[in-house]
Amino acid sequence: MPSYNPPLRDMQFVMHEVLNVSDALKQIPRHADTDADTINAVLEEGGKFAAEVLFPLNISGDQEGCTLNPQTREVTTPKGFKEAYAQYIEGGWAALSCDPEFGGQGLPFVLNQCFYEMLNSANQAWTMYPGLSHGAYECLQAHGTDEQKKQLLPKLVSGEWLGTMCLTEPHCGTDLGLLRTKAEPQADGTYKINGTKIFISSGDNDFTDNIIHLVLARLPDAPKGSKGISLFAVSKYKLKADGSLGEHNGIYCGGLEHKMGIHGNATCQMILDNAMGTLVGQPHKGLQAMFVMMNAARLGVGNQSLGLTEVAYQNALAYAKDRLQMRSLSGTKAKDKEADPIIVHPDVRKMLLTAKAYAEGGRALACYCALLLDQHLYHPDEKVRQDSDELLALLTPIIKAFLTDNGFQATVMCQQVFGGHGYIKEWGMEQFVRDARINMIYEGTNTVQSLDLLGRKVLGNNGATLKKFGKIVGALIEEEGVNEKMSEFISPLAVLAEQMTKFTMEIGFKGMQNPDEVGAAAVDYLRVAGHLVFGYFFARMASVALKKIAAGDTDPFYQAKLQTARFYFAKLFPETATLMRTARAGSKSLMDTHLALA
Ligand SMILES: Cc1cc2nc3c(=O)[nH]c(=O)nc-3n(C[C@H](O)[C@H](O)[C@H](O)COP(=O)(O)OP(=O)(O)OC[C@H]3O[C@@H](n4cnc5c(N)ncnc54)[C@H](O)[C@@H]3O)c2cc1C
Repeated sequence: MPSYNPPLRDMQFVMHEVLNVSDALKQIPRHADTDADTINAVLEEGGKFAAEVLFPLNISGDQEGCTLNPQTREVTTPKGFKEAYAQYIEGGWAALSCDPEFGGQGLPFVLNQCFYEMLNSANQAWTMYPGLSHGAYECLQAHGTDEQKKQLLPKLVSGEWLGTMCLTEPHCGTDLGLLRTKAEPQADGTYKINGTKIFISSGDNDFTDNIIHLVLARLPDAPKGSKGISLFAVSKYKLKADGSLGEHNGIYCGGLEHKMGIHGNATCQMILDNAMGTLVGQPHKGLQAMFVMMNAARLGVGNQSLGLTEVAYQNALAYAKDRLQMRSLSGTKAKDKEADPIIVHPDVRKMLLTAKAYAEGGRALACYCALLLDQHLYHPDEKVRQDSDELLALLTPIIKAFLTDNGFQATVMCQQVFGGHGYIKEWGMEQFVRDARINMIYEGTNTVQSLDLLGRKVLGNNGATLKKFGKIVGALIEEEGVNEKMSEFISPLAVLAEQMTKFTMEIGFKGMQNPDEVGAAAVDYLRVAGHLVFGYFFARMASVALKKIAAGDTDPFYQAKLQTARFYFAKLFPETATLMRTARAGSKSLMDTHLALA
């Protein structure tokens, strides 16, 4: 059976020692009182909930899955899921980072980020129910009418109701411009919606009395393509004037998907049969409104893989210390035993350290982005809000794709550490791999994320935001470039930072002549950008660790951090050279292949 210990020490290191979150929050009036003690206390309690309530339901939820009653069309979640949700609500966790105006606790996102990492480690399938609901809350808060906010937000904030995201249809996932669900205006100002949505996470469930579905559909006069999509709030039960629940609305689950992983989450086909909905935002501008939820979900999906990477690492590390096989190449290490523990073997260490480095780099990046979100939303200075928004937009596809690609690699490596036992269900490792796989696919596939990064976020504004991030990296290089002890981290980072400008310009130039060049380079480009970001955070973390050691701190945590940073720069970061080479190899070897792909 696997186990899970919330990585509180590393979270506190990132928050308090690397990012100095409390200082940053002091600049934001509504978060000025969120000090380190508050953060630590909340994380400790949140970690207990994750480890003690959710984690024990992870394997049983996977084995049991969800069931649909075809008569009532109601979905039942695995045993214990509903009760765990009741405890979650009781503890006030749903409201943690929501606006006090709607009953939230008003704590910063950066705190929610770490809390959700732990929930994802403990049980990704369960965490998707409240996770998506939080995205629906954000979307309605940004684009809902006053009436929608008044009726829906307090229920979503308290967790009394859940929210979903209904975009995908059988014939369209990536290209939402093709969607066919129709919305007809009614005399009373509402809309009658008809269509079929597929793959809707948490589409129906027994957690709550009601569900608010955010549905993309077309109005009768809608222009073709993505410019003709509107967004609607569709309540599972019609709402009476006083806000109480009326009759069942024309929306129900027509079937559950049988899938590779996240069995505890209900992936539903949703039928809209004359469902009554209300418009969210402007007509035909639904995709823009939905982007609030999609961006939240993209950060959330990166966080899912971060959680899985951490829990897989913890279990592989424990196993590698315990499992005895063969002797160390450099001579017996455990003389009192029949063989050495497998952790002595260099490649086992490489697999463990890869997972550890991906978890720690991912955690630093994810917390940094959550802080950007706090600044973007509530910082009093307009320029800080604007800069934070731009940086977050640049880093969102990196969080989504880099963390989920890394997460899949890491869970596979941790499974590999178990040898044949990793393939057997009992150890729980194969579930981490199966659960991690979806994160590369949904919320826009990782290919789509790479096109978003290179096409829109980098080339789309002539590299202006990338330069902004480059300046942040440059400041660290300048500050630490004179420090000899930092040169093993700063030198490779400085080289990549310089190469990145030329590399980007080259692809941009080739792309102007042939757009397929951008498509051919984008996935490699995103990984290079991901390493630039991770390199920056590992250098920052190494700098903090070196300073602590120089000041006489003997906590082995700091030496461990330095060793992980050294491993990262020696064994993972150099992948960028190959990636730049394959990106530069261009599109010809892909596109001039009509016979190879005949
Ligand atoms: C378990 C699960 C849960 C999900 N949850 C939800 C949910 O809650 N709500 C929701 O609305 N949807 C949900 N989805 C749908 C998910 O977001 C889509 O499956 C995903 O966006 C991909 O769409 P698709 O499956 O139609 O693949 P397609 O769009 O058909 O893509 C097929 C392949 O073509 C590639 N491709 C497509 N266009 C391009 C391009 N321009 N350039 C390069 N490559 C391209 C893709 O990267 C992919 O590899 C879920 C899916 C699953 C499996």
